[in-house]
Amino acid sequence: MAQQCQSINLGQGFPDYPPPDALIQAVSDAMRQGHNQYAPMAGMPVLREAIASKVQTQHGQVYESRSEITVTAGATEALMSSFLALAHPGDEILLIDPAYDLYAPSIRLAGASAVRIPMQAPETNRPLFRLDWNRVENAITSKTRMLVLNFPHNPTGLTLKSEDLDALETILSKHPILLLSDEAYEHIVFDGQSHLSPVTRPSLADRTILISSFGKTFHATGWKVGYCCAPADITAEIRKVHQFTVFSVSTPMQAGIARHLRESDTLSELSGFYQKKRDRLVSGLQETVLRPLHSEGTFFLLVDTRALGPGLEKELAVRLTRDVGVASIPVSAFYAEPGNPKSNHGLLRLCFAKLDATLDQALERLHSIR
Ligand code: PMP
Ligand code: GLN
Repeated sequence: MAQQCQSINLGQGFPDYPPPDALIQAVSDAMRQGHNQYAPMAGMPVLREAIASKVQTQHGQVYESRSEITVTAGATEALMSSFLALAHPGDEILLIDPAYDLYAPSIRLAGASAVRIPMQAPETNRPLFRLDWNRVENAITSKTRMLVLNFPHNPTGLTLKSEDLDALETILSKHPILLLSDEAYEHIVFDGQSHLSPVTRPSLADRTILISSFGKTFHATGWKVGYCCAPADITAEIRKVHQFTVFSVSTPMQAGIARHLRESDTLSELSGFYQKKRDRLVSGLQETVLRPLHSEGTFFLLVDTRALGPGLEKELAVRLTRDVGVASIPVSAFYAEPGNPKSNHGLLRLCFAKLDATLDQALERLHSIR
C-alpha cells in the first residue's frame, strides 16, 4: 500500500540507507577471494568464532563455536528451525502479546499451540507496555514446552531489566521449560541502558535458545544472515531441521560479516545513532495530534492516535497511508485477533530507521492532520 499510495514508508522495519562501506567491501573481497561455494552446514568456522567472541564480550556467556552456534538464514530461519525441532504436537508455547508475527504460524506448523499472554497496554502516566510475570507463571501448565521472549521488543520498544531476569529465574527454577530469546534488536538500546539477555544468568542460559540477526545491526535486512546459540544437545536438534531446509547460508556474506566483526567496532555506535533518530521523531511528533509513547530500544516508536477518533488501528493505518501519505503498522497486527477491540489500543508503530530527511518529510505530512 505504501508503494501504491507513494507514501513515506515508516511501516515495515528496514533502513533506507546502506550497510557500512567496509562491510560491503569485505563481502565483495570474499567473493573475489573465492568464497562462492557451499559453506559448512552449521556456518563458516570464522563466523561462528566471531559470534562466540561477540556474545562472550556482550553477555559473559561462553558458547562452543563447533557445537553450540549455528549460522542461519536470518533470525527467521533460526526461529522456524527451533520451533520445528523443539515443539511437538500437544506442546504449548507461551507468547507475550503483542508478538512478532512469525511466532504463532511457525508454532502451528510444528503441530504445537501458541498460548498468548497479553502485556498491560500503556496508560496516560505510563507510556510503555508492561509485562506481568505473574501472568506468565499462571499460564504454565504440564504441557508448556517453551516461553518465547523478544527484547528489545518489537513492536513496543520495551527492554528487559534485571528485575525481569530475577522473576524469570524464579519462575523457571520451578518449571523446567525452554526459553527462546529473540534478540534481533540487541544492539539498539537507548538512554545509557544496555541490552540484558537472559543468557547473562547461567541458570537461564542452560535452557535458552539465543537468536539474533545481522540484518538490523548492519543495516542489511535483505542479506538474511542470523544465528542461534544454544547448549549442544539443543543445537544438535535445531541443526537437523536447518540441514534439510536451508543446509547452509550464503558463503561470501558469512566471510564478509566475520571479517567485519573482527576488524570494525561499529556495534557500540548503533544505539547512539538510533537514539538521535528516535528523539528527532519524538520531538517532531509533539507538534502533531499524534502522541508518541516511549521507546527504550529497537528502531520502532508507538504513537497514540486516539485524538483521531475511534476505530480499528488497521483502518487508521490505511487512512494515514492513503490520505496523509505516511505508512505505519497497526499494533493490532501483532495480536492473535487483529479485528478484536481488545487488540486495538489506538496505537500505530512507526519505524525510525530512516534518513533524517525521510523522517522530516514524514513529520511534515503528519503536521497536516487535524
Ligand atoms: N525477530 C524479530 C523480532 C524481528 O523484528 C525480525 C525482523 N526484523 C526477525 C526476527 C527476523 O529477522 P531476519 O530478518 O534476520 O530474519
Ligand atoms: N521484522 C520487520 C518488522 O517487524 C519486518 C520483517 C517482515 O516484514 N517479515 O517490520
